[in-house]
Amino acid sequence: MSERGDDIEVQGATIDDETRCEHYASERDVVAFKFACCGDWYPCRACHDESTDHATETWGSGEVDEHAVLCGACHATMSIEEYVGSEHACPECGQSFNQGCEEHWERYFGEDLARG
Ligand SMILES: [Zn+2]
Ligand SMILES: [Zn+2]
Ligand SMILES: [Zn+2]
Repeated sequence: MSERGDDIEVQGATIDDETRCEHYASERDVVAFKFACCGDWYPCRACHDESTDHATETWGSGEVDEHAVLCGACHATMSIEEYVGSEHACPECGQSFNQGCEEHWERYFGEDLARG
């Protein structure tokens, strides 16, 4: 189930409070991710890499239950499994997500999960 993520502080080059950033700013770019390496939240991997000096680590196949995805529209978090299986819409509020993100899932979740 989704959980409230109101306390989450999204870092990086955000441009609004729905987690859009300088790299991804379309109407549907409203998700942020928790990164396995540092446990911090960023709107995208570019934001992470510009703000840190360590290599990005992806989540492993045993971590599908990790609540590593935040919907910027309603600030609910969802597990990786829920997000990957969400048909590109927030299970909580119905906000559409950018389908193009799917091409980059392996940069966040690792290949096992991305093909899930
Ligand atoms: Zn990190
Ligand atoms: Zn970004
Ligand atoms: Zn939502």
